[in-house]
Amino acid sequence: MRLRILSSLKARLITSFAVAIMIPALITTLVGVRMIQRHVYEQAESKVSSDLESAKEIYQGYLERLKDSLRIHATRMMIYGALDRNDLSNLGPEMERVKSAERLDILTVTDSSGRVFYRTNRPAQRGDDMSREELVHMALFRRESVASTIIFTAVELQKESDALAEQAGMSITPTPHAAPTERTTLADGMLLMAAAPVFTPQNRMVGILYGGVLINRNYEVVDKIRKTVFKEGVYKGREVGTATIFQDDVRISTNVRNADGNRAITTRVSAEVAKEVLERGNTWRGRAFVVNDWYISAYAPILDMQGKTIGMLYVGTLERPFRDSLWRSLLVFLGIALLGVVLVSWVAMKAADRISKPIRAIALASQGLAGGDYSQEIEVTGEDEIAHLASSFNKMVRELSKAHQDLREWAENLERKVDQRTAELRAMQTQLLQAEKLAGIGKLAAGVAHEINNPLTGILTNSSLMLEDTTADDPHREDLQTIVNETLRCRKIVKGLLDFARQTQPHKQSLSLNRVVEDVLALVRNQASFRNAVIKTDLDPSVPSIMADMDQMRQVVLNIVLNAADAIPNNGEIRIRTGVAADLKMVELHIQDNGPGIPDEIKDKLFEPFFTTKKTGTGLGLSIAYGIVERHGGSIQLRSAAGQGTTFSIRLPIQNSQPHA
Ligand code: ADP
Repeated sequence: MRLRILSSLKARLITSFAVAIMIPALITTLVGVRMIQRHVYEQAESKVSSDLESAKEIYQGYLERLKDSLRIHATRMMIYGALDRNDLSNLGPEMERVKSAERLDILTVTDSSGRVFYRTNRPAQRGDDMSREELVHMALFRRESVASTIIFTAVELQKESDALAEQAGMSITPTPHAAPTERTTLADGMLLMAAAPVFTPQNRMVGILYGGVLINRNYEVVDKIRKTVFKEGVYKGREVGTATIFQDDVRISTNVRNADGNRAITTRVSAEVAKEVLERGNTWRGRAFVVNDWYISAYAPILDMQGKTIGMLYVGTLERPFRDSLWRSLLVFLGIALLGVVLVSWVAMKAADRISKPIRAIALASQGLAGGDYSQEIEVTGEDEIAHLASSFNKMVRELSKAHQDLREWAENLERKVDQRTAELRAMQTQLLQAEKLAGIGKLAAGVAHEINNPLTGILTNSSLMLEDTTADDPHREDLQTIVNETLRCRKIVKGLLDFARQTQPHKQSLSLNRVVEDVLALVRNQASFRNAVIKTDLDPSVPSIMADMDQMRQVVLNIVLNAADAIPNNGEIRIRTGVAADLKMVELHIQDNGPGIPDEIKDKLFEPFFTTKKTGTGLGLSIAYGIVERHGGSIQLRSAAGQGTTFSIRLPIQNSQPHA
């Protein structure tokens, strides 16, 4: 759970960083793209505006050139001479030559009243009045050459030639978005036309030479515009620029291609453009879907001689290159933004790692710690807050570990102490029971001994006297001797019993335990049972003195040393050591032998009077020693196990620490 929180902490950090960069990146991208888009479209529109201007100039150039060439041809002698002389001969071939040289569809010469003098298209049809035709009228009126776009009606075209009428005639293709109309065909034609007055050398106007080119289905102008303005550029299989000439709202000459590859004439312009350009006479600029692609387009009105809008000149530049450059910019922006996000995310990841890794380590270590593993330590790097946290954690772990260790030791100690105390209590209890038991036995023994003592004295006295009175050969002498000996033995036992039962009060004096040991050893050393024994003493010279009865103390040591001598094998060893107990209140005397040891089952009975395992033993030695030591405020302890020797330890209070002597 904690680790999941940490991983979400990392995720949160990264997300925050990413959001922090993403928002400005997005805003920058949006604003940037918007700016670029505006710039690109402004650029596109300004380009299309200048393209339109160029196209207009090219268109106008055609008119000017037409005007100039007609003006020049009007000065030819062949023409003014024929008019002047009213002589048609030789005019025909000359006019044909001019018409074909100038690639004209119409070339006609009228007289000075505007009646047709010679019409190249139909030489036979002459004499009709053309003075009402605008251009002819103007040229006659102004006496100078003029040029303009004009509309020829179907009749006028027919007058020229069937071919021209046919070239102009179109059935209009219904077009979506175009203004509603009931027209289905277009019979009129639109012409680039010029008219020039013909003068004699005497400056007499003798006629008008007019000529023109039918624009319908004639693609020279639009192709020239495309070639000049757009350099016939192609972008991804599409023409970059297109130009169209509209007669009214119908396409009559274009280089926009249909899906089938044909020039897209006979279709109409949208109602919106028609209204703006044809009705209002304005220039229109904007995006337009032309045939099958989007174009940035511009439309300009085409005016006739009177300034009436009769058609439109259109140029369009493919929007796609602009759109593509916009996309490229967008991609570059997005790329940079993405790169920024990736970079910042990477940095954020590193930073988040740097923050979350130590925290994760601390979390893991805490888990370990909670599981009881106090060896957790975290690597501390750097000097920042996290490093401080880590080192504080380490310190806490160390202190916890120490506290835990202390607690464990304390618990172990407590346990040990409890065990020790329990053992001591048990020992005390045993001792108490032993003491009570021995006290009971002692009382009984003392009573019996007291009762026996007097009769025994009588028996011993009388038997001794009788023995003295007998002669050496008296047959009763041996029996009397046995009576005396056995009585003596009984008295010894009785004395022992009395000793054990405190019947003999101690005469306490200050004495050294070392002295007592030495006295006893001096006494026994030469006895037969000690001859083969090795006796080692380790007597502490600084051992404090005790208050005790000298004789009784000797008896205690003697009894124990004699038992040791009885227990050890030939060349066995007896060690005697004195010293001060750990509590400094008692002196200690340890008598150790390497005899067979004492089995557990008889340890309890050892200090009871008459308990003996020896054939000739009285069983009183240890009980007497016990009684004496107890009367001196001390204790006797026994440490032994079968086969491991025996140690008797006597503890007696140090003189000064005795409550009273
Ligand atoms: P006794 O020596 O007359 O038997 P004690 O009261 O002195 O009487 O001893 C009682 C018994 O304790 C002995 O019979 C012996 O079995 C045992 N005993 C005493 N001291 C030792 C010892 N050092 N090693 C083995 N057994 C001992």
